[in-house]
Amino acid sequence: MKGTFPTDKFQRLKTPFYYYDATLLRNTLDVIKAEAAKYNKFCVHYAIKANANPKILSIIRESGLGADCVSGGEIKAAIKAGFPASKIVYAGVGKTDWEINLGLDYDIFCFNVESLPELEVINELAAAKGKIARIAFRINPDVGAHTHANITTGLAENKFGISMKDMDKVIDQALAMNNVKFVGLHFHIGSQILDMGDFIALCNRVNDLQEKLFARQIIVEHINVGGGLGIDYAHPNRQPVPNFAEYFATYHKHLRLRPQQTLHFELGRSVVGQCGSLITRVIYVKQGTNKQFAIVDGGMTDLIRPALYQAYHKIENITSDESPETYDVVGPICESSDVFGKAIDLNKVRRGDLIALRSAGAYGEIMASGYNCRELPEGYISDELV
Ligand SMILES: *Cc1c(COP(=O)(O)O)cnc(C)c1O
Repeated sequence: MKGTFPTDKFQRLKTPFYYYDATLLRNTLDVIKAEAAKYNKFCVHYAIKANANPKILSIIRESGLGADCVSGGEIKAAIKAGFPASKIVYAGVGKTDWEINLGLDYDIFCFNVESLPELEVINELAAAKGKIARIAFRINPDVGAHTHANITTGLAENKFGISMKDMDKVIDQALAMNNVKFVGLHFHIGSQILDMGDFIALCNRVNDLQEKLFARQIIVEHINVGGGLGIDYAHPNRQPVPNFAEYFATYHKHLRLRPQQTLHFELGRSVVGQCGSLITRVIYVKQGTNKQFAIVDGGMTDLIRPALYQAYHKIENITSDESPETYDVVGPICESSDVFGKAIDLNKVRRGDLIALRSAGAYGEIMASGYNCRELPEGYISDELV
């Protein structure tokens, strides 16, 4: 599959590396902005954990999105990339004291609180600084997402959030504290969700919870429904920009917002997933017993999703137009799970060919590790390869 990548420019780069199509990223951001702007008080944050490459963050920050962080390190990365602290939300089940203090020092927009002990610590640490922390409660809505078991987060069995039956209790506690201000409810049901029915189930749950609060004359200013919109891994070219129109329209139609409420989103994968590819070079073509292997220089240390979640990434030989043959595409790491794909049809592979693993912009580079004492892959953006 020649022709879709600037392969001549790739030849001088050390493989494996990530390549990001800046034009696609900007188009995606434009669509997100235009679709969210159709509704009055929709506010979109980018989930930094999907990809924190500074060049990517800088493009996303330019578009005006806020930042959703899940660690102190991500708050630092967001601030460094120029996201205003007033647009940073911070979730996570295990926020440590230094991380909470960092959020307090920057006066971030909101802590999404996941337990009562965490609420108490935030109140104490804020008191010590003479501050009042804005907090939202992350409620576990017990809504299942039809996605891989390792990436559902909104079931009662998952570690995330506060159970619905404890909601009233923690709200009462927060209302009685001097150094936290209860401003919202937060939810996040999982990732790679393509069935709008899952988001509708979340909307229905949020509507019920809001009714309960309303009966207590509580109307929070902010509702945050997290992220989770999926991408088309099977056909990266068919739908390079996810269907944000349908996504936002679903929430508009099914979530009953009170007039003064703002609806927040935290999108990760759907923002950056399709713009990135892992580019790797074929080291050897090896004949196995009943198959042939394309052994490439990238492995699970560069892109762990196939090994970790049996995730599918479309694989292409971007330097060959010869007729296809079937290969197992494997990396060099000493683990049997270091396989990018089995029985994959690729244009005939020869030593030195470049292979692209598509749709790798989210949870790719950021999850790279140094296992086997390997170097981390570099990330290049199309802008800089001109
Ligand atoms: C991971 C995460 C997101 C982003 O999820 P995507 O599936 O990448 O959109 C949003 N909010 C929270 C709290 C998260 O942990």
